[in-house]
Amino acid sequence: MNVIEEILQKQSLTRQDIILLLQTNADDRNKLYSKAAEVKEKYVGRKVYFRGLIEMSNICRKNCFYCGIRAGNFNAHRYNLSDDEVVEAAKFAWESKYASLAIQTGEVTNREFTDRVSNLLQRIHRETNGELGITLSMGEQTEETYKKWFDNGAIRYLLRIESTSKELYAKLHPNNKAHDFDRRVECLKSLRRVGFQVGTGVMIGLPFQTIENLADDLLWIQQMDIDMVGMGPYIEHPDTPLYKYKEVLLPMEERFNLALKMIAILRILMKDINIAAPTALQAIDKLGREKGIKVGANVVMPNITPGLYRNDYKLYDNKPCVDDAVDDCKNCLEARIQLTGDFIGYGEQGNSMHFTKRRSRG
Ligand code: SF4
Repeated sequence: MNVIEEILQKQSLTRQDIILLLQTNADDRNKLYSKAAEVKEKYVGRKVYFRGLIEMSNICRKNCFYCGIRAGNFNAHRYNLSDDEVVEAAKFAWESKYASLAIQTGEVTNREFTDRVSNLLQRIHRETNGELGITLSMGEQTEETYKKWFDNGAIRYLLRIESTSKELYAKLHPNNKAHDFDRRVECLKSLRRVGFQVGTGVMIGLPFQTIENLADDLLWIQQMDIDMVGMGPYIEHPDTPLYKYKEVLLPMEERFNLALKMIAILRILMKDINIAAPTALQAIDKLGREKGIKVGANVVMPNITPGLYRNDYKLYDNKPCVDDAVDDCKNCLEARIQLTGDFIGYGEQGNSMHFTKRRSRG
Protein backbone atom coordinates (compact mmCIF):
# COMPACT_ATOMS: atom_id res chain seq x y z
CA MET A 1 0.00 0.00 0.00
CA ASN A 2 1.49 3.38 -0.91
CA VAL A 3 1.30 6.59 1.16
CA ILE A 4 -1.81 7.90 -0.59
CA GLU A 5 -3.67 4.61 -0.14
CA GLU A 6 -2.77 4.70 3.55
CA ILE A 7 -4.05 8.27 3.91
CA LEU A 8 -7.30 7.37 2.16
CA GLN A 9 -7.91 4.60 4.72
CA LYS A 10 -7.66 6.95 7.69
CA GLN A 11 -10.68 8.08 9.70
CA SER A 12 -9.53 11.70 9.82
CA LEU A 13 -7.03 13.70 7.79
CA THR A 14 -4.19 15.85 9.09
CA ARG A 15 -2.97 19.03 7.39
CA GLN A 16 0.02 17.08 6.05
CA ASP A 17 -2.30 14.36 4.65
CA ILE A 18 -4.33 17.03 2.83
CA ILE A 19 -1.18 18.61 1.40
CA LEU A 20 -0.06 15.23 0.07
CA LEU A 21 -3.50 14.58 -1.44
CA LEU A 22 -3.45 17.98 -3.14
CA GLN A 23 -0.08 17.11 -4.66
CA THR A 24 -1.19 13.78 -6.12
CA ASN A 25 -1.12 13.12 -9.84
CA ALA A 26 -1.96 10.35 -12.29
CA ASP A 27 -2.90 7.07 -10.59
CA ASP A 28 -2.99 8.42 -7.07
CA ARG A 29 -5.34 11.20 -8.13
CA ASN A 30 -7.79 8.60 -9.41
CA LYS A 31 -7.60 6.78 -6.08
CA LEU A 32 -8.56 10.01 -4.34
CA TYR A 33 -11.46 10.52 -6.75
CA SER A 34 -12.73 6.94 -6.27
CA LYS A 35 -12.62 7.31 -2.50
CA ALA A 36 -14.57 10.61 -2.69
CA ALA A 37 -17.17 9.03 -4.98
CA GLU A 38 -17.55 6.15 -2.53
CA VAL A 39 -18.02 8.55 0.42
CA LYS A 40 -20.53 10.60 -1.56
CA GLU A 41 -22.61 7.55 -2.47
CA LYS A 42 -22.59 6.29 1.11
CA TYR A 43 -23.45 9.55 2.86
CA VAL A 44 -25.50 11.71 0.47
CA GLY A 45 -26.40 9.23 -2.27
CA ARG A 46 -26.23 9.74 -6.02
CA LYS A 47 -28.85 12.41 -6.33
CA VAL A 48 -27.89 15.79 -7.73
CA TYR A 49 -30.02 18.75 -6.67
CA PHE A 50 -30.76 21.77 -8.81
CA ARG A 51 -30.68 25.39 -7.69
CA GLY A 52 -32.11 27.59 -10.44
CA LEU A 53 -29.69 30.51 -10.48
CA ILE A 54 -31.04 34.03 -10.91
CA GLU A 55 -28.35 36.68 -11.29
CA MET A 56 -30.63 39.49 -10.21
CA SER A 57 -28.26 42.42 -10.61
CA ASN A 58 -24.56 43.04 -11.20
CA ILE A 59 -24.53 46.34 -9.31
CA CYS A 60 -22.01 46.14 -6.48
CA ARG A 61 -20.56 48.64 -4.02
CA LYS A 62 -17.33 46.72 -3.62
CA ASN A 63 -14.06 46.50 -5.45
CA CYS A 64 -12.64 43.00 -5.00
CA PHE A 65 -9.50 42.87 -7.15
CA TYR A 66 -10.47 39.63 -8.95
CA CYS A 67 -14.07 40.39 -9.85
CA GLY A 68 -15.38 41.46 -13.25
CA ILE A 69 -18.38 43.30 -11.79
CA ARG A 70 -16.43 45.29 -9.17
CA ALA A 71 -17.68 48.86 -8.80
CA GLY A 72 -14.51 50.25 -10.39
CA ASN A 73 -14.95 48.33 -13.65
CA PHE A 74 -16.52 50.95 -15.88
CA ASN A 75 -16.53 48.51 -18.82
CA ALA A 76 -19.18 46.38 -17.10
CA HIS A 77 -22.67 46.98 -18.44
CA ARG A 78 -24.84 47.29 -15.32
CA TYR A 79 -28.31 45.81 -15.09
CA ASN A 80 -30.97 45.19 -12.50
CA LEU A 81 -33.78 42.71 -13.24
CA SER A 82 -37.30 43.92 -12.55
CA ASP A 83 -39.29 42.21 -9.81
CA ASP A 84 -41.49 40.64 -12.49
CA GLU A 85 -38.45 39.19 -14.27
CA VAL A 86 -37.19 37.66 -11.02
CA VAL A 87 -40.59 36.19 -10.20
CA GLU A 88 -41.00 34.83 -13.73
CA ALA A 89 -37.63 33.07 -13.48
CA ALA A 90 -38.61 31.69 -10.06
CA LYS A 91 -41.84 30.34 -11.53
CA PHE A 92 -39.87 28.65 -14.28
CA ALA A 93 -37.75 26.90 -11.62
CA TRP A 94 -40.87 25.86 -9.73
CA GLU A 95 -42.71 24.60 -12.81
CA SER A 96 -39.58 22.72 -13.90
CA LYS A 97 -39.51 20.99 -10.48
CA TYR A 98 -36.09 22.38 -9.60
CA ALA A 99 -37.51 22.86 -6.08
CA SER A 100 -34.74 25.30 -5.17
CA LEU A 101 -33.63 28.71 -6.24
CA ALA A 102 -30.46 30.76 -5.72
CA ILE A 103 -30.70 34.52 -6.09
CA GLN A 104 -27.41 36.31 -6.47
CA THR A 105 -26.48 40.00 -6.68
CA GLY A 106 -23.51 42.24 -6.12
CA GLU A 107 -23.36 43.74 -2.64
CA VAL A 108 -25.86 46.52 -1.99
CA THR A 109 -26.68 47.46 1.58
CA ASN A 110 -29.22 50.27 1.49
CA ARG A 111 -32.72 50.05 2.95
CA GLU A 112 -34.44 50.20 -0.43
CA PHE A 113 -32.54 47.10 -1.55
CA THR A 114 -33.01 45.08 1.64
CA ASP A 115 -36.77 45.85 1.63
CA ARG A 116 -36.97 44.92 -2.03
CA VAL A 117 -35.44 41.51 -1.34
CA SER A 118 -37.87 40.91 1.55
CA ASN A 119 -40.83 41.77 -0.66
CA LEU A 120 -39.51 39.60 -3.47
CA LEU A 121 -39.12 36.64 -1.12
CA GLN A 122 -42.73 37.03 -0.02
CA ARG A 123 -43.94 37.33 -3.59
CA ILE A 124 -41.99 34.32 -4.83
CA HIS A 125 -43.35 32.18 -2.00
CA ARG A 126 -46.88 33.39 -2.72
CA GLU A 127 -46.67 32.66 -6.42
CA THR A 128 -44.95 29.27 -6.11
CA ASN A 129 -47.05 27.82 -3.33
CA GLY A 130 -44.20 28.16 -0.82
CA GLU A 131 -42.53 25.16 -2.45
CA LEU A 132 -39.16 26.61 -3.40
CA GLY A 133 -36.12 26.40 -1.11
CA ILE A 134 -34.45 29.78 -1.57
CA THR A 135 -30.73 30.51 -1.28
CA LEU A 136 -29.52 34.09 -1.23
CA SER A 137 -26.04 35.29 -2.13
CA MET A 138 -25.97 39.03 -1.55
CA GLY A 139 -22.79 39.64 0.35
CA GLU A 140 -22.16 41.14 3.76
CA GLN A 141 -25.23 42.55 5.49
CA THR A 142 -26.18 43.29 9.08
CA GLU A 143 -27.49 40.46 11.23
CA GLU A 144 -30.80 42.34 11.30
CA THR A 145 -31.03 42.20 7.51
CA TYR A 146 -30.11 38.52 7.45
CA LYS A 147 -32.84 37.89 10.01
CA LYS A 148 -35.38 39.83 8.00
CA TRP A 149 -34.61 37.80 4.88
CA PHE A 150 -34.71 34.56 6.85
CA ASP A 151 -38.06 35.52 8.36
CA ASN A 152 -39.32 36.24 4.85
CA GLY A 153 -38.51 32.74 3.71
CA ALA A 154 -34.88 32.43 2.57
CA ILE A 155 -33.35 29.27 4.06
CA ARG A 156 -29.79 29.19 2.74
CA TYR A 157 -27.12 31.84 2.33
CA LEU A 158 -23.90 31.67 0.38
CA LEU A 159 -21.05 33.99 1.38
CA ARG A 160 -17.74 32.92 -0.04
CA ILE A 161 -14.66 33.66 2.01
CA GLU A 162 -12.55 33.30 -1.19
CA SER A 163 -9.37 32.66 0.82
CA THR A 164 -8.97 31.92 4.51
CA SER A 165 -5.39 33.19 4.54
CA LYS A 166 -5.58 36.74 5.91
CA GLU A 167 -2.39 37.58 4.06
CA LEU A 168 -3.76 36.39 0.72
CA TYR A 169 -7.18 37.94 1.39
CA ALA A 170 -5.43 41.30 1.80
CA LYS A 171 -3.86 40.88 -1.65
CA LEU A 172 -7.26 40.20 -3.21
CA HIS A 173 -9.11 43.16 -1.70
CA PRO A 174 -8.63 46.87 -1.09
CA ASN A 175 -7.40 47.68 2.39
CA ASN A 176 -10.50 49.26 3.91
CA LYS A 177 -13.43 48.50 6.19
CA ALA A 178 -15.72 47.36 3.38
CA HIS A 179 -13.30 44.55 2.53
CA ASP A 180 -12.32 43.31 5.97
CA PHE A 181 -11.61 39.60 6.48
CA ASP A 182 -12.80 39.53 10.10
CA ARG A 183 -16.07 41.23 9.18
CA ARG A 184 -16.72 38.51 6.59
CA VAL A 185 -16.15 35.79 9.17
CA GLU A 186 -18.49 37.63 11.55
CA CYS A 187 -21.15 37.66 8.81
CA LEU A 188 -20.85 33.88 8.43
CA LYS A 189 -21.34 33.54 12.19
CA SER A 190 -24.37 35.88 12.05
CA LEU A 191 -25.90 33.73 9.33
CA ARG A 192 -25.49 30.64 11.52
CA ARG A 193 -27.06 32.41 14.52
CA VAL A 194 -30.02 33.52 12.41
CA GLY A 195 -30.70 29.93 11.36
CA PHE A 196 -29.57 29.74 7.73
CA GLN A 197 -27.93 26.76 6.09
CA VAL A 198 -24.58 28.47 5.68
CA GLY A 199 -22.50 28.19 2.55
CA THR A 200 -19.04 29.45 1.71
CA GLY A 201 -16.23 28.71 -0.71
CA VAL A 202 -12.80 29.66 -1.96
CA MET A 203 -11.04 30.31 -5.23
CA ILE A 204 -8.45 27.78 -6.31
CA GLY A 205 -5.31 28.68 -8.22
CA LEU A 206 -5.08 32.35 -7.24
CA PRO A 207 -1.85 34.23 -7.75
CA PHE A 208 0.36 33.88 -4.62
CA GLN A 209 -1.76 30.99 -3.30
CA THR A 210 0.13 27.96 -1.99
CA ILE A 211 -0.88 24.34 -1.54
CA GLU A 212 -0.64 24.98 2.22
CA ASN A 213 -3.17 27.82 1.84
CA LEU A 214 -5.60 25.44 0.14
CA ALA A 215 -5.16 22.77 2.81
CA ASP A 216 -5.85 25.42 5.44
CA ASP A 217 -8.96 26.53 3.52
CA LEU A 218 -10.37 23.01 3.74
CA LEU A 219 -9.59 22.70 7.43
CA TRP A 220 -11.13 26.12 8.08
CA ILE A 221 -14.34 25.10 6.29
CA GLN A 222 -14.44 21.98 8.44
CA GLN A 223 -13.76 23.89 11.65
CA MET A 224 -16.51 26.42 10.81
CA ASP A 225 -18.87 23.46 10.39
CA ILE A 226 -20.15 24.84 7.08
CA ASP A 227 -23.29 23.27 5.55
CA MET A 228 -22.68 23.83 1.86
CA VAL A 229 -19.72 24.78 -0.29
CA GLY A 230 -19.25 26.23 -3.75
CA MET A 231 -15.61 26.49 -4.77
CA GLY A 232 -13.95 26.50 -8.11
CA PRO A 233 -10.89 27.45 -10.11
CA TYR A 234 -9.86 31.10 -10.26
CA ILE A 235 -10.27 32.41 -13.79
CA GLU A 236 -8.74 35.80 -14.46
CA HIS A 237 -10.85 38.66 -15.83
CA PRO A 238 -9.03 41.22 -18.01
CA ASP A 239 -10.83 44.22 -16.49
CA THR A 240 -9.56 43.61 -12.97
CA PRO A 241 -6.43 44.66 -11.04
CA LEU A 242 -5.46 41.02 -10.37
CA TYR A 243 -5.14 40.39 -14.10
CA LYS A 244 -1.64 41.86 -14.06
CA TYR A 245 -0.45 38.72 -12.29
CA LYS A 246 -1.67 36.39 -15.02
CA GLU A 247 1.90 35.39 -15.86
CA VAL A 248 2.42 33.81 -12.44
CA LEU A 249 -0.76 31.73 -12.54
CA LEU A 250 -0.77 27.96 -12.83
CA PRO A 251 -1.86 26.71 -16.28
CA MET A 252 -5.67 26.39 -16.53
CA GLU A 253 -5.49 22.60 -16.57
CA GLU A 254 -3.60 22.53 -13.30
CA ARG A 255 -6.07 24.92 -11.68
CA PHE A 256 -8.86 22.66 -12.88
CA ASN A 257 -7.23 19.54 -11.45
CA LEU A 258 -6.57 21.29 -8.16
CA ALA A 259 -10.23 22.30 -7.98
CA LEU A 260 -11.34 18.70 -8.51
CA LYS A 261 -8.95 17.52 -5.81
CA MET A 262 -10.28 20.19 -3.43
CA ILE A 263 -13.85 18.97 -4.03
CA ALA A 264 -12.83 15.33 -3.54
CA ILE A 265 -10.91 16.01 -0.31
CA LEU A 266 -13.72 18.15 1.06
CA ARG A 267 -16.21 15.34 0.41
CA ILE A 268 -13.97 12.99 2.41
CA LEU A 269 -13.58 15.56 5.22
CA MET A 270 -17.24 16.62 5.41
CA LYS A 271 -19.22 13.64 4.26
CA ASP A 272 -22.78 14.94 4.48
CA ILE A 273 -22.54 18.56 3.34
CA ASN A 274 -23.80 19.88 0.02
CA ILE A 275 -21.07 20.65 -2.49
CA ALA A 276 -21.79 22.50 -5.73
CA ALA A 277 -20.13 21.67 -9.04
CA PRO A 278 -19.34 25.26 -10.03
CA THR A 279 -19.83 26.65 -13.52
CA ALA A 280 -16.20 27.83 -13.44
CA LEU A 281 -15.20 24.16 -13.88
CA GLN A 282 -17.12 24.08 -17.13
CA ALA A 283 -15.50 27.31 -18.28
CA ILE A 284 -12.20 25.39 -18.41
CA ASP A 285 -13.35 21.91 -19.44
CA LYS A 286 -16.56 21.21 -21.35
CA LEU A 287 -17.21 18.26 -19.03
CA GLY A 288 -16.06 20.16 -15.96
CA ARG A 289 -19.30 20.05 -13.99
CA GLU A 290 -19.76 16.35 -14.68
CA LYS A 291 -16.25 15.72 -13.45
CA GLY A 292 -17.07 17.70 -10.30
CA ILE A 293 -20.14 15.51 -9.72
CA LYS A 294 -18.08 12.37 -10.17
CA VAL A 295 -15.62 13.40 -7.45
CA GLY A 296 -18.09 14.43 -4.78
CA ALA A 297 -20.29 17.38 -5.78
CA ASN A 298 -24.07 16.94 -5.42
CA VAL A 299 -25.51 20.34 -6.38
CA VAL A 300 -25.71 22.06 -9.76
CA MET A 301 -26.94 25.57 -10.47
CA PRO A 302 -28.60 25.87 -13.88
CA ASN A 303 -28.66 29.50 -14.90
CA ILE A 304 -32.24 30.75 -15.28
CA THR A 305 -31.41 34.45 -15.52
CA PRO A 306 -33.15 35.86 -18.61
CA GLY A 307 -30.64 35.38 -21.46
CA LEU A 308 -30.48 39.08 -22.23
CA TYR A 309 -28.56 39.80 -19.02
CA ARG A 310 -26.53 36.67 -18.55
CA ASN A 311 -23.49 37.93 -20.38
CA ASP A 312 -23.29 40.93 -18.05
CA TYR A 313 -22.90 38.93 -14.83
CA LYS A 314 -19.29 38.05 -15.45
CA LEU A 315 -17.23 37.57 -12.34
CA TYR A 316 -14.61 35.88 -14.52
CA ASP A 317 -13.84 35.57 -18.21
CA ASN A 318 -15.09 32.85 -20.60
CA LYS A 319 -18.29 32.15 -18.64
CA PRO A 320 -20.12 29.22 -20.27
CA CYS A 321 -23.78 28.92 -21.32
CA VAL A 322 -24.35 32.67 -21.57
CA ASP A 323 -26.29 32.25 -24.80
CA ASP A 324 -28.43 29.25 -23.89
CA ALA A 325 -32.18 29.64 -23.37
CA VAL A 326 -33.30 28.44 -19.93
CA ASP A 327 -34.98 25.37 -21.43
CA ASP A 328 -31.83 24.44 -23.38
CA CYS A 329 -29.84 24.79 -20.18
CA LYS A 330 -32.19 22.39 -18.40
CA ASN A 331 -32.13 19.77 -21.15
CA CYS A 332 -28.39 20.01 -21.56
CA LEU A 333 -27.76 19.60 -17.84
CA GLU A 334 -30.17 16.70 -17.57
CA ALA A 335 -28.29 14.82 -20.29
CA ARG A 336 -24.94 15.72 -18.75
CA ILE A 337 -25.90 14.47 -15.30
CA GLN A 338 -27.25 11.22 -16.70
CA LEU A 339 -23.83 10.66 -18.22
CA THR A 340 -22.27 10.67 -14.75
CA GLY A 341 -24.57 7.86 -13.60
CA ASP A 342 -26.19 10.14 -11.00
CA PHE A 343 -29.78 11.31 -11.23
CA ILE A 344 -31.57 14.59 -10.57
CA GLY A 345 -33.65 15.03 -7.43
CA TYR A 346 -36.54 16.73 -9.22
CA GLY A 347 -39.13 18.11 -6.82
CA GLU A 348 -36.76 17.81 -3.83
CA GLN A 349 -35.17 20.83 -2.20
CA GLY A 350 -32.07 18.82 -1.32
CA ASN A 351 -31.25 20.62 1.89
CA SER A 352 -27.87 20.02 3.48
CA MET A 353 -28.00 16.79 5.49
CA HIS A 354 -25.22 18.19 7.61
CA PHE A 355 -27.47 21.09 8.59
CA THR A 356 -30.50 18.89 9.20
CA LYS A 357 -28.52 16.58 11.48
CA ARG A 358 -27.01 19.47 13.44
CA ARG A 359 -30.44 21.00 13.95
CA SER A 360 -31.98 17.75 15.10
CA ARG A 361 -29.19 17.43 17.69
CA GLY A 362 -30.34 20.86 18.96
S1 SF4 B 1 -16.80 39.52 -5.58
FE1 SF4 B 1 -18.87 40.07 -4.93
S2 SF4 B 1 -18.58 41.77 -3.47
FE2 SF4 B 1 -16.65 41.56 -4.61
S3 SF4 B 1 -16.87 43.04 -6.29
FE3 SF4 B 1 -17.59 41.04 -7.06
S4 SF4 B 1 -19.80 41.00 -6.74
FE4 SF4 B 1 -18.93 42.68 -5.51
